[in-house]
Amino acid sequence: MDIFEKCTNLTPLNPLYEAKIAIEKGVYPFFIPLENNEGTEAIINGKRVLMFGSNNYLGLTTDKRVREAAIEAIKKYGTSVTGSRFMNGTLKLHLELEEKLAEFLGKEKALVFSTGYQTNVGTISAIVGKDDIAIVDKEDHASIIDGCKMSFGKMERFKHNDLEDLEKILKKLPEDKGKIVIVDGVYSMTGEIAPLPEIIEICKKYKARLMVDDAHSIGVLGKNGRGTANYFGCEKDVDLIMGTFSKSFASLGGFIAGDKDVLFYIQHTARSFIFSAAIPPANLASALKALEIMQKEPERIENLKRISEKWRNGLKSIGFDIGKSETPIVPVYIRDKWKTVYMWKELLEEGIYVNPVVPPGVPPGDSLLRTSCMATHTDEQIERGLEIFEKVGKRLGII
Ligand code: PMP
Repeated sequence: MDIFEKCTNLTPLNPLYEAKIAIEKGVYPFFIPLENNEGTEAIINGKRVLMFGSNNYLGLTTDKRVREAAIEAIKKYGTSVTGSRFMNGTLKLHLELEEKLAEFLGKEKALVFSTGYQTNVGTISAIVGKDDIAIVDKEDHASIIDGCKMSFGKMERFKHNDLEDLEKILKKLPEDKGKIVIVDGVYSMTGEIAPLPEIIEICKKYKARLMVDDAHSIGVLGKNGRGTANYFGCEKDVDLIMGTFSKSFASLGGFIAGDKDVLFYIQHTARSFIFSAAIPPANLASALKALEIMQKEPERIENLKRISEKWRNGLKSIGFDIGKSETPIVPVYIRDKWKTVYMWKELLEEGIYVNPVVPPGVPPGDSLLRTSCMATHTDEQIERGLEIFEKVGKRLGII
């Protein structure tokens, strides 16, 4: 049997079977190149479209100060560190960013990884040893699941945001095992917020540690965008806060923050940290500048909140099902996977980019268009986006 057979023999059981059909039908929605990206608008296929499919929550990727910080860092340090943090890959800029992040999040220490994905994979596989158990929400990000799979410990999954199920699982686990509950602060597809105070109570009762993936919460929730724990006023009770620079920070990279002894352990055992080159100067400098702006310009976060509310209310009043979103991530449930990609295509043709999410990205029957707002979206852009959604939704019989 040729190991490559699966690449060409696309039977209905092959994960690529439907992708092939989508290509044939002209509705394949992935790997679409952006010819220009100015934040709230982009050029796709030579046409200017509204951008409602980005994680650029604070609109800082095109901010003059962030761009200049990146350019200056390249001038000073070059384009790459060409090595692991362990060896030649640590710059003073890495340490500066770690110190400022730790202070921002009220933690003793922070550690910067090359991506958010690597942060979760490295941290979790380092912390969850062979006698330990990670208890994760069923809708946690793939990098959390992969981290658990790469660890030597066990993984248990509880129903999404279901406190009873979490407790039921913790109750039956042996007392002498090390336990860590891992949740997303804000869920990346549904825009829901994890009920941290209640989760903390359960963790304390069963002596489990808590890690929160705040990829979509930093810059979005809490004072100056300090994230979900700050939003609920429970920073002290979240043991590890994870974040990424690829969203509000307008850069690339990730970090984990917590107690210094735990971070020292992770720093010396997380394989994705040790065996991968560190983030380059331009990414460090842009993340540092974004962090500074977040703290100096809270009005951005306020505007993001206001704009997101307007977008959510608008979609709801037109008649779309947006689930339980409370954040700038607003799912528009279409349910049927083919209707979802057809709607995505028509929306793009009418002038708005969003992201279609179909199985296995979501459970069957939950196909959705993932829309997301930026602090820099104008009221006019929101109104234009809503008009397009209404027009296309009516044309396809979805509303
Ligand atoms: N966690 C969550 C919740 C995410 O949504 C993502 C990225 N979409 C990551 C982790 C990984 O982050 P990165 O893109 O920086 O690798």
